[in-house]
Amino acid sequence: MFRKILVANRGEIACRVIATARRLGIATVAVYSEADAGARHTRLADEAWPIGPAPARKSYLAVDTILDAARRSGAEAIHPGYGFLSENAGFAQACAEADLVFIGPPPDAIRAMGSKAESKALMERAGVPLVPGYHGEAQDIPVLRDEAARIGYPVLIKASAGGGGKGMRIVASADDIEAAIEGAKREASASFGDDRVLIEKYLTRPRHIEIQVFADTQGRTVSLFERDCSIQRRHQKVLEEAPAPGMDPLRRTQMGEAAVAAARAVGYVGAGTVEFIAEGDAFYFMEMNTRLQVEHPVTEMVTGLDLVEWQLRVAAGEPLPRDADHLALRGHAIEARIYAEDPERDFLPAVGTLVHLRQPPDVPGRVRVDTGIVQGDRITPNYDPMIAKLIVWGEDRPAAVRRLVAALAEYEVVGVTTNLGLLRAIAGHHAFATAELDTGFIARHAAELLPPGSPGSDFDDLEAVVLAAAALTVVRDQAAENATQAQVTGDPWSPWAAIDAWRMNGEASQALCFRRGDAPPITLRAYPLVDGSYRLEWPGRSVRAALTADEAGPLLVLDGVSRRLRLVRRDVELTVILAGRNHTLVHDDPLAPPRTETAGSDRVTAPVPSRVTHVLVRPGDVVEKHAPLVIVEAMKMEITLRAPQQGTIAQVRHAVDDMVEEGTELVTFLIEGQAP
Ligand code: ADP
Repeated sequence: MFRKILVANRGEIACRVIATARRLGIATVAVYSEADAGARHTRLADEAWPIGPAPARKSYLAVDTILDAARRSGAEAIHPGYGFLSENAGFAQACAEADLVFIGPPPDAIRAMGSKAESKALMERAGVPLVPGYHGEAQDIPVLRDEAARIGYPVLIKASAGGGGKGMRIVASADDIEAAIEGAKREASASFGDDRVLIEKYLTRPRHIEIQVFADTQGRTVSLFERDCSIQRRHQKVLEEAPAPGMDPLRRTQMGEAAVAAARAVGYVGAGTVEFIAEGDAFYFMEMNTRLQVEHPVTEMVTGLDLVEWQLRVAAGEPLPRDADHLALRGHAIEARIYAEDPERDFLPAVGTLVHLRQPPDVPGRVRVDTGIVQGDRITPNYDPMIAKLIVWGEDRPAAVRRLVAALAEYEVVGVTTNLGLLRAIAGHHAFATAELDTGFIARHAAELLPPGSPGSDFDDLEAVVLAAAALTVVRDQAAENATQAQVTGDPWSPWAAIDAWRMNGEASQALCFRRGDAPPITLRAYPLVDGSYRLEWPGRSVRAALTADEAGPLLVLDGVSRRLRLVRRDVELTVILAGRNHTLVHDDPLAPPRTETAGSDRVTAPVPSRVTHVLVRPGDVVEKHAPLVIVEAMKMEITLRAPQQGTIAQVRHAVDDMVEEGTELVTFLIEGQAP
């Protein structure tokens, strides 16, 4: 076995690999880009080496720098994780040439499976069933059009070199085929530098079922059963589970044999996944991923195996730890991918700082959270926006679903938009409970899964609970502040320093005003009561409320009913977290100092790392407050930067197509009295 390995990756998968290496007594070397200095994976490893700037091609894809770090740190092998260099045959080759073991398949197997079209030709010869389609060399439009007609509409066009759903086009009829081919070719060429496409019959209600395979260097190849990854958005996985609901033993054997045949056909070694698309009783080969998959933990949970350990043993030349006769499935596992993205804005990736992060506690064998981030970390546009994977296990599927629902309710994130609401809605949906799975699940149930703007309420008193929690938090924080001030004055007996709400005249009460989204503001009055609780009144409501805390966290008692919740305050913004759901209110404080954007500013900066797409002003221009100045693009999103005040433009610091970092000054204003 190796003494020391380098993990050429970041985030949760780097942490995952390091954990197994540590358990096996193998020293680990992490690598990190400038954006990841101090990241969790660098702290878990025994050593962490810097490999360059934030953009992946200058760090996590920089082959020479990574090989150099491996050589200088004395690592004997490199684990590539998934993504980045994991399916790069050139990198696997370069490792071999540098006398380092690449923990993955041989370069030739990566190459053979690297092209969807070539791998299909290979699979056809190996007798693996394929989706009816065309994956030939000829690429001119008349040929492709005739092939589409032969296959029969609807068809799906895919980039041969594709991945991540890029270059895919569904075509309903012959009228649209030419435009779709041209569009797919353009996208394929831009994303992969290769414009070849293939055409498949588009299955209208398919399931994505994949088989985990493992092979050693001694010629043994086994199937570690299937995963169902049918719950997808934009053709990418969101929830995965094992075993696949409704899979009968005969079909499992057939699919396992087909996957093993696929692996054998390319001389496979290590962990790999053969992806099938299934409809009715039929299943067809889609592609093989020549690496460990994101969703490997569900297989681990139902087989009791550690797949990273298997990878390390196989790479070290050991035989597979178990043969097919000693592999069995136990119970049911489900993984949910928690992404920084906005399901209500077409799953647009989100960036931001995780000001608050609380994850369900790990329960060995039952609840597992794989993550690479901690509270306070930033989700940047440089890398994949996955925050974590939550994996649960139950004796059977209903038990696993129940555990998933419960664990998702414990997940708390403030500071970045996430898909947690969508995951909860799916986990609690009756069609998910009854396993009516297919790749159209999210789109079909969108109306129930993505309620427009609705916070999603589990009980009728939600508004009162949220308002009361927010109001009592403000009152509590003010009392704490007053107490500090009272100490500063030095006179413990002064009635002015007392922190109750005693007033010289009239009833002691305080008015508080809150805004929630675009709804009209609500003003409530808080009257302190002798027992430390408050009477809260706002139009149409009067409640008695107390906010306390114990070792389990805050507790709100509202008219005698107590509820656990969590409160995160950022300045005037209060987030009340109830059953994992965020309810954010803004406290309109008449005494608060004006917020920066209204105070007037003499410059406009980029809110996120981005590319300048439009410059709408020139030095000397006089602009009104809120006038658009510059448009930038980040993560496929356009952001218009507006004038914070009326004034004269002094300088425009960047031109169209410039890449700018977060905080970069884009436009400055003339300060009064300053010469232009
Ligand atoms: P990529 O490698 O770009 O992720 P895949 O070939 O793995 O693309 O396909 C991704 C997803 O697209 C599948 O999981 C499935 O949901 C859908 N898909 C692929 N092929 C078909 C098809 N022939 N018919 C219907 N849906 C398909």
